[in-house]
Amino acid sequence: ATPTSIMVGTGRAAEMGVLFRKGDALQMLQEATVVALDKTGTLTEGRPELTDLIVADGMTEDTVLRLVAAVEATSEHPIATAITRAAETRGLTLPSPEGFDSITGYGVQATVEGHRVLIGADRLMAREGVEIGGLAERGAELAAEGKTPLYAAIDGRIAAVIAVTDPIKPGTPAAIRALHDLGLKVAMITGDNAATARVIAAQLGIDHVVAEVLPEGKVTALESLREGGGKLAFVGDGINDAPALAAADVGIAIGTGTDIAIEAADVVLISGDLTGVVNAFDISKRTMRNIR
Ligand code: ADP
Ligand code: MG
Repeated sequence: ATPTSIMVGTGRAAEMGVLFRKGDALQMLQEATVVALDKTGTLTEGRPELTDLIVADGMTEDTVLRLVAAVEATSEHPIATAITRAAETRGLTLPSPEGFDSITGYGVQATVEGHRVLIGADRLMAREGVEIGGLAERGAELAAEGKTPLYAAIDGRIAAVIAVTDPIKPGTPAAIRALHDLGLKVAMITGDNAATARVIAAQLGIDHVVAEVLPEGKVTALESLREGGGKLAFVGDGINDAPALAAADVGIAIGTGTDIAIEAADVVLISGDLTGVVNAFDISKRTMRNIR
């Protein structure tokens, strides 16, 4: 492609809400064989809602939700927002937690009214030596429905399984189909539960899933998807995605995402819709073939 055609391509992309921050990204994208996407906030809205609350014997929903939401009120994770919103809806007044601790990729914990409260993934319970017992089966059922199961423990004993669901963005299924039609291998990278991730991937027709990835493991997860000499593109929105956006041959940030992700990217999409990803690949192919 000539410098002029690259200028034309970049301009046309901008009109479609796709900002190429580097000229060589336009060239590189056309050589991509794999596109990996972050799940939460990229494929999905990033605004989960609490859908299920199943308490252990001897516990009441409001008792558990009140303590758990008190801990989550300090966290900025979208899951935390879902849980505190549910507590608000029920009109629960939340006590203030002491000694709040966020264990990135696992969950959160704090002391509330003298009780030690833990909330997070099954791996948090394993790490803290909490037996999930019979609620594990309920968690597996929720995951099979594409929901994210979280476990709550009070004073070292399992108290509940809580499910949250994050809606898939309306444009996502069509965008995945279009990326497949362009001949790309499409993959999903997520910190979410593996069973949940597989169900969501199946719904979207994505056949490569790397799940239960810790924030610091995103780059390794991305590199595991590299195939031969083909270039690797990554699409993400979060602070956690910045290293993978920088490590990918082409990092594409969702414009509605965090500033840190946008700064690390080669390409920025104006809208949150994944049609922009398809347009980016499309314009790259057309420009490099000098098709007007
Ligand atoms: P992702 O961006 O894919 O959600 P994270 O690393 O932020 O990845 O979270 C991974 C997992 O850790 C979540 O799916 C959840 O199980 C658990 N987790 C993280 N933060 C919280 C929180 N504030 N409350 C409960 N669980 C959490
Ligand atoms: Mg995200």
